[in-house]
Amino acid sequence: MHAILDPAVKSFVPVPDGSHFPLYNLPYGIFSPAAGESPRAGVRIGDHVLDLSLVEDAGLLDGAGLPRGTFSQPWLNRFMELPAENRRLARILIHGLLRQEEPTLRDNAGLRRRALVPVDEVVMHLPVMIRDYTDFYSSREHATNVGIMFRGKENALMPNWLHLPVGYHGRASSVVVSGTDIVRPCGQTIAPDAEAPSFGPSRLLDIELEMGFLVAGENALGAPVPVDEAWDRIFGMVVVNDWSARDIQKWEYQPLGPFNAKNFATSISPWIVTIDALMPFACAAPAQDPEPLPYLREKERRTFDIALTVDLEAPEADGPVTICESNFRYLYWTMAQQLAHHTCTGCNLGTGDLLASGTISGPDKGSFGSLLEITWRGSEPIALPGGGQRKFLADGDRVTMSGVCAKDGLRLGFGEVTGRILPAVEPGQ
Ligand code: MN
Repeated sequence: MHAILDPAVKSFVPVPDGSHFPLYNLPYGIFSPAAGESPRAGVRIGDHVLDLSLVEDAGLLDGAGLPRGTFSQPWLNRFMELPAENRRLARILIHGLLRQEEPTLRDNAGLRRRALVPVDEVVMHLPVMIRDYTDFYSSREHATNVGIMFRGKENALMPNWLHLPVGYHGRASSVVVSGTDIVRPCGQTIAPDAEAPSFGPSRLLDIELEMGFLVAGENALGAPVPVDEAWDRIFGMVVVNDWSARDIQKWEYQPLGPFNAKNFATSISPWIVTIDALMPFACAAPAQDPEPLPYLREKERRTFDIALTVDLEAPEADGPVTICESNFRYLYWTMAQQLAHHTCTGCNLGTGDLLASGTISGPDKGSFGSLLEITWRGSEPIALPGGGQRKFLADGDRVTMSGVCAKDGLRLGFGEVTGRILPAVEPGQ
């Protein structure tokens, strides 16, 4: 189904040891070669970005059957909506152009100078015009931890949880690219013994370590996607920080679920790693008991082994501290099940929809993917390097998440998604 390129092939573009971006990865993003220049598509290789708009203009991707100007758009949507076959051909052609022994680009000094831009000169943009954003709740460990905190050990998992991938419709307009500052949200909260709510900056601002996938192509309204066909609709993956205001969430969430606690910002990493690139890291997803209903049963329960880390850097600390090491493979519900469940009503998903996993917590304390869990509702603060502590995020704090795959000498990654908290802006009266 997915063509696997030879991971041993090297590029003429230098790739530093330990880079997330060897020739094999080739993740897609949208960048400007310098501030103020128009956004266009690129792939990352080592510490460079290959400008795909120039490569396409030069006719070097003609064999992929791309409509003219596919990579000159300020979004990847036009590329993502092409048949999987064309996208795969483009990846193979780009890989071929960057190979060490391929002279076409290597020996074309003029094109090479313009098309290979050092990554520290570029400005990254949101890679996709995100049409709709859905957030799941697919980590059994996370759902159990939150359930224990709010309902007690006996009723930790809600009765539906083992039967369907729980989710909610999020807000696409506030999905931002890594590096965007996050303004602390204001909202209604209620103090434990208070009779009435008050309004002001959230005091329990949190992170959620997630990954998300971008949808490719469209199913018509009324036409569900079978679970075993779902993989063809997944373009690639990013690391997601789904910022959350726990105090706002606690007061507002019943009976319809999260609203303002989640709608102020969701950050994503700028490079979309394709499913083709991830295939060497495919592994079995956790066994499911009880067996799900037939429309959610997969012939092959595939997920990916992606090691995830979260670093917190507080302004008063001596440096960053790693607060979580988790893995995408822990998730109980797979991406294919999420997509099949989302569309089982006939709901139409389209190119550029973002479907995020929900917080990815692992089995032990060091692998919890939110501050809510790491500090157990603030009762076990994180010690900062050089003194001080954190229960939830303070103004000026920076959170950076990263994802890496490694197997049999092949290593690739997602880069990072980072964001810093700015003080709240209160609405006028
Ligand atoms: Mn979330």
